[in-house]
Amino acid sequence: MKLNTLHDLYLHQLKDLYSAEQQIIDALPDMAEEATNPELKRAFNEHLEQTRQQKDRLDRVARNLGEDLSGETCQAMKGLIKEGKEMIKQRATDPVKDAGLIAAAQRVEHYEIAGYGTVCTFAEMLGRHDDLELLQETLSEEKNTDERLNKIAKQTVDPAALHATA
Ligand code: FE
Ligand code: FE
Ligand code: FE
Repeated sequence: MKLNTLHDLYLHQLKDLYSAEQQIIDALPDMAEEATNPELKRAFNEHLEQTRQQKDRLDRVARNLGEDLSGETCQAMKGLIKEGKEMIKQRATDPVKDAGLIAAAQRVEHYEIAGYGTVCTFAEMLGRHDDLELLQETLSEEKNTDERLNKIAKQTVDPAALHATA
């Protein structure tokens, strides 16, 4: 696609996020399955539900724009999810595995926070206030998820177990 205007770049960034959300929807069930900490399992499952709504929000933005956001692949998310899958395959004690899953998931959230931060700025610059509201809602969900994962990592993962030798 040709990028001549900020509007073109906005669309390009939205397509990247659309692909990212779809990839996350496909990956989160495995992450939830693999998590042993019940709090972490719940966080992954709840974020899966949220992610489906985030994709719906992007569909609404697409309708506002009269555009189709499908057809692109976010290569960065492909890589981040690959790292998550490699973590799943590692032989590790449960709490260490959980900490590794959190590390992978937080990378995903940070990528999304960067992406949604960008499209929020662009939506504002372009005067697209309806889009902005939808995108801000998702941005705050990503930030809350990152915070929640932080808390789980700090409070729920047993520090003693993290030091145990197998
Ligand atoms: Fe998301
Ligand atoms: Fe990307
Ligand atoms: Fe997310």
